[in-house]
Amino acid sequence: MNSAEATEPEQPRNQSVNRPTNLLSDWRIAVLILFALWGLIYMVGLSTPALLDDADTVHAEAAREMVQRHDWVTLYANGVRYLEKAPLMYWSVATSYTMFGVDEWSTRFPLMLGVLCIILATYGLGRWAFGPEGGFASALVMTTALGPYLFTRFLIPDVPVGFWLTLTYWMFLKSLEEENPSRWVCWGLAAVCALNVLTKGLIGVVYAFAAPEMTAENGVVIAHEMLHTVGATDKYNLADDAPRFPEGFGDPGQIPLYPQRNAELMAGRRMLASDRWEQASSLDEVVVGAATAQEIRWPQHAE
Ligand SMILES: [Zn+2]
Repeated sequence: MNSAEATEPEQPRNQSVNRPTNLLSDWRIAVLILFALWGLIYMVGLSTPALLDDADTVHAEAAREMVQRHDWVTLYANGVRYLEKAPLMYWSVATSYTMFGVDEWSTRFPLMLGVLCIILATYGLGRWAFGPEGGFASALVMTTALGPYLFTRFLIPDVPVGFWLTLTYWMFLKSLEEENPSRWVCWGLAAVCALNVLTKGLIGVVYAFAAPEMTAENGVVIAHEMLHTVGATDKYNLADDAPRFPEGFGDPGQIPLYPQRNAELMAGRRMLASDRWEQASSLDEVVVGAATAQEIRWPQHAE
């Protein structure tokens, strides 16, 4: 053993460098910090603004009628059967209405609990895969990221879908690691996939938007969702996704009318013929129409 090495003051220096990490390696402290951040970011704005027209209110209305009709199987919106969506989110909102009454905050509350779940699941998965530091860092990113925040400004089930996907992925990795995957991992994997199907249909089993070639299309989706947060409403029919005339057309005055050169951002689709349309494939194809400009109060269009 080298005596010069032994006299080096290695020990204390290491300790002082590691102290913050040691504190965060205690899962209780990490979870407490994440919980506080979640409360600050997601719970403070729970009751404002009012629910938006269109998707936001239709989804809330379907949950309200669930409670009103005592029918938790067949969904109704404004008295019309509403069968195009998976039920789990409506069940959660209807449960919230039963417990707390119908209000803006009780509409959003289940979704915010979904955010808490995805934060904790991300922490769990990150900690399992990369240790305490990795777990905390990934959960911190999840808590403060813009995307999940935007996707909870109106009532859509995408955050719960992300939560089930996180658990699915975690159990899938666990099953790869175990020579003979344990029964609870296998059944757990099946169960979270099933819950995801109950949340958003078959997308719970197949999900492909993460591919690099989807980047341009994702850009359109993100811009679309961002404009929702400043007051823009959808310009397509909920029934068949067709852009509405004239406000959902890139240029309603174009001659000839079809095919439209551009898509309107809040319609998200470009008309090719009177009965055909396609998803806008990048932001280059997209314009903000007059109706949307007015909703988001662009100066030259605002009264
Ligand atoms: Zn939309």
